[in-house]
Amino acid sequence: MLVRKEVNVMRRIEIFDTTLRDGEQSPGVALNADEKLQIAHQLAKLGVNVLEAGFPIASPGDFEGVRRIAQEVRSVSVAALARANAKDIECAWQALSGGASPRIHTFIATSPIHMLYKLQKSPEEVLEQAIEAVRLAKSKVSDIEFSAEDASRSEVDFLAKVFSGVIKAGATVLNIPDTVGYATPEEYTAFIRAVMERTIGIEKVKVSVHCHNDLGLAVANSLAAVGAGVHQLECTVNGIGERAGNAALEELVMALRTRRDQYSVETSIVTTEIARTSQMVSRLTGMIIQHNKAIVGKNAFAHESGIHQDGVLKERSTYEIMSPSVIGIDVESIVLGKHSGRHAVHQRLTDLGLDLAEDQFEDVFARFKQLADRKRDVTTADLFSLAQVQKEKADQITLEYLQVSSGTHLVPTATIGLMYNGERLEDAACGDGPVDAAFKAIDKVLGTRGTLSHYSLQALDGGEDAQGEVAVTVKFGENLVGGRGVSTDIIEASVRGYLQAVNRAFVRGWIKVREKNAR
Ligand SMILES: [Zn+2]
Repeated sequence: MLVRKEVNVMRRIEIFDTTLRDGEQSPGVALNADEKLQIAHQLAKLGVNVLEAGFPIASPGDFEGVRRIAQEVRSVSVAALARANAKDIECAWQALSGGASPRIHTFIATSPIHMLYKLQKSPEEVLEQAIEAVRLAKSKVSDIEFSAEDASRSEVDFLAKVFSGVIKAGATVLNIPDTVGYATPEEYTAFIRAVMERTIGIEKVKVSVHCHNDLGLAVANSLAAVGAGVHQLECTVNGIGERAGNAALEELVMALRTRRDQYSVETSIVTTEIARTSQMVSRLTGMIIQHNKAIVGKNAFAHESGIHQDGVLKERSTYEIMSPSVIGIDVESIVLGKHSGRHAVHQRLTDLGLDLAEDQFEDVFARFKQLADRKRDVTTADLFSLAQVQKEKADQITLEYLQVSSGTHLVPTATIGLMYNGERLEDAACGDGPVDAAFKAIDKVLGTRGTLSHYSLQALDGGEDAQGEVAVTVKFGENLVGGRGVSTDIIEASVRGYLQAVNRAFVRGWIKVREKNAR
């Protein structure tokens, strides 16, 4: 048996977080370099072992994100993705070269279906290309992860042959992903064991898994892989990612911790940072967390039935298998109000991982005071959104004013004033409702044409003075982009969300804004 097992000492499982790479590939998610850096700092605080920062060849924005994270986040290993070719690997290395402990993560598909249809290459060609890529990467950096894309649908013998080859070429981590979320726990465990047994040199490297959630089995499959002896789990915060997403970091970590009796492994995750990290990722990506989501959902620790409430009041462990304080929820619920001073607000922002410059802080604090006048309790979510609005000042297109009229017998009409390039642009439009009218007015002002593909509205907390938070996904041409806006006025929140999407599309060159004199 090739699996390493220590007696009495808990085996350490490494957490490879790919929120900023696979997670960022979620439909509608588009983070800029500042937002990525902010999440990266928080992931380092959370204690992940490896942080996959992006896919540098994919776009200049991705490259910049990886470069800045590698340079500024030095306490964890930073990985960058590259297909198994020289151009991708050179690019990944350029982005990573300023880092403290860089890892090049290169991949090629090994399943018959991917090799035949996607790559149109023979197995021999794929083997050669994989070895070549790892060899090139090894000439740049010592830490090389090799992923066999669609590994779970590959043939065991061929996969073992590729793995043996790339180990010889210098790979230090081998990843066996369930790229399409097709595996089942029992089958996956047996598959991983078989591949590990047939791979020459397997004892010299770490083995990793990367599971997708198409059948809702990503976490179950990853945990099954722990039983097969793997050393690294790949995951994302809140389980975001391609299609149905990846294994959720918080679920993996809390399952391993809560059921230590079953898995006998530990991770380096600082669990009290989980809630905070989850909130930050949700807000910055615009991907709302479902209320019944395990660990980090709004209802994850809410007891509704009278019988349950009674039990929990008498003894928490009757219906609670873990304490909310372990994931940092008690800290999250501290509220601020109009009597909260500078110091308390500053401390909360720091706790949230938001390190603001002095003038930025003064601006947020002034708006905090205004909000506290309108609202009894200012929650963490409120504070976070205040700091985000402040960040959006860098946006090129900003809201100057908004006026909406609607009613039972009125045609909803919106008039919008936007600032762009130091000029105020204005126009009005009618729509099916006030929000629709406002979005149409924005498009009319800018000469853009967005199609709304997703719209959601939720209250930031339960009270009647709650701020409304709107998340939108807008399609401009072929490109989907997300945006989020917060206000006590839900139409204004909607407009701010739409404008964030517009700004993101604009920065990426996906839309052009009509100049005033051309109108
Ligand atoms: Zn993936």
